[in-house]
Amino acid sequence: MFDIDAVRNDFPILTRRVHGHPLVYFDNAATTHKPKQVIEAITDYYDRFNSNVHRGVHSLSGEATDAYEGARARIGHWFGVEDTGEVILLRGATEALNLVANIIAPELSAGDVILVGESEHHANIVPWQQLSQRIGVQVIPIPVSDAGTLDFDAARSLTQTHPVKVIAAGHVSNAIGSVNPIEDFISLAREIGAYSVIDGAQAAPHLRVDVKHLDADFYALSAHKCCGPTGIGVLFGRRALLEAMPPWQGGGDMIDRVSFSGTTYNTLPWKFEAGTPNIADTIAFAKALDYLESIDFAAALDHEASIHSHLIEAMQARPHIQILGHPDQWVSVCSFNVEGAHPTDVGTLLDQLGVAVRTGHHCAMPTMEHFGLPGTCRASLAFYNTHDEVDQFLQALDRVTGMLTDS
Ligand code: PLP
Repeated sequence: MFDIDAVRNDFPILTRRVHGHPLVYFDNAATTHKPKQVIEAITDYYDRFNSNVHRGVHSLSGEATDAYEGARARIGHWFGVEDTGEVILLRGATEALNLVANIIAPELSAGDVILVGESEHHANIVPWQQLSQRIGVQVIPIPVSDAGTLDFDAARSLTQTHPVKVIAAGHVSNAIGSVNPIEDFISLAREIGAYSVIDGAQAAPHLRVDVKHLDADFYALSAHKCCGPTGIGVLFGRRALLEAMPPWQGGGDMIDRVSFSGTTYNTLPWKFEAGTPNIADTIAFAKALDYLESIDFAAALDHEASIHSHLIEAMQARPHIQILGHPDQWVSVCSFNVEGAHPTDVGTLLDQLGVAVRTGHHCAMPTMEHFGLPGTCRASLAFYNTHDEVDQFLQALDRVTGMLTDS
C-alpha cells in the first residue's frame, strides 16, 4: 500500500518553505529529492567503514568492497540484470553515453550512419557529434512528431537508404515526458545489425524498467533522478560486446598487469571503471532502490500517474497555456508556455510563490528548435508530490499568468 503521508515524512527537504510559502517542488526531471534512508547511508559509510575498495587486506577495505560490490548486485537486480559484469558504475548517464560512443568507435568507419533521436538530451547527441568529427561518421536525426514521440517509421526508412550502424534513442524525453517506442528501435537495430543505445535517464524514475527484457545493447541512467545521490550512474551493456570492446579511460583498477612492455586489462565490469569509484554514493543508490521497493514502487507510480493526469487535464483547460506535445504515453512532465510571456519570467514569478519549475531549453535545444520555441517552463512530478500540490501550482500559475498578461 502506498502511503503518501508516510513517504513525504521520509523526505526532510519537503518541509522547507521558499519565500514564505510551502515548497512545491516540480523540478524532479532535473533531480529528485533523497529520502533520509539514502542520506543516512552516506553518513553511515563515512562514519563506520570509509576505505578504498578492491586493493586492501585490512578489515575496513574488505567491508567497503563488500558493500560496494553488494550495491552493484542490488542495482543490477532492480533493473533485471543479474550478471554484475554487465553493470558498469560511472558518474551518470552523461559519462555512460560518452563511454559508449568511445568504445564503439573502433567498430565504425567514415560514412557510417548513427541515427540519434531529435528529442534527445544533449548527453545523447554531443558524444555522437564528437565521434563524427573524429572519425567521419554521419549523425542523422530521427524526427520527433508533433505529438512529441520519435517517429519509428521515419527511422525505418532511414535504415533502408543509409548504412546505419548505431541507433541512439531516449526511453523518455526529458523536455516533453513522452515515452518512445524503444522496443521497436531495439528490434530494428538488431534486424539491421546495428548497435542500440538507450538513454534511460528519465525512464528509470517513472517506469519499472527491466533492462534484460528490453535487450538493448547499451542502457544508461543516473541515480540522482531515482532518489539516489548525484555523481553515480550506470551503463548496462551486453557482456559479449563489453568483452570485445576496448576500455575507455586508463588507470588504477581497470588493469590486470601493467608493464612498459605491455599492459593487460581487468575483467568486467572493472575494465571500464578506472580509478577510485564513487563508493559512498553507489552504496546509497542501492539504498534508494531498497527504499523504492519498500514503499511499493508500482503503487507509487500509479499515484504519480494520477496526479500527472490531473495536471495535464487542468493545464489543457487553460486558454493561455500552450503545452509541448500530446503523446499517447506520457510520464511526469508538463512542458508549457504562457502565451505572450517568456518562460524565465514565469519560472521566476512561480519561485516567488514557492513553486520550483525549470525553465529554458532543458538540454534539448534541437527539440526546442523543432517546435520553434526559445524554451519552455517544465513542471515535472515525482511520486512524493500530491494532488494538493498540483492545485497549489495551478493557483500560483493563474496568478502569474494574470500578472504577465495584464501588463
Ligand atoms: N539524458 C536525459 C534524458 C536526461 O534528462 C539527463 C539529465 O537531465 C541526462 C541524460 C544526463 O544526466 P546526468 O546529468 O545525470 O548525467
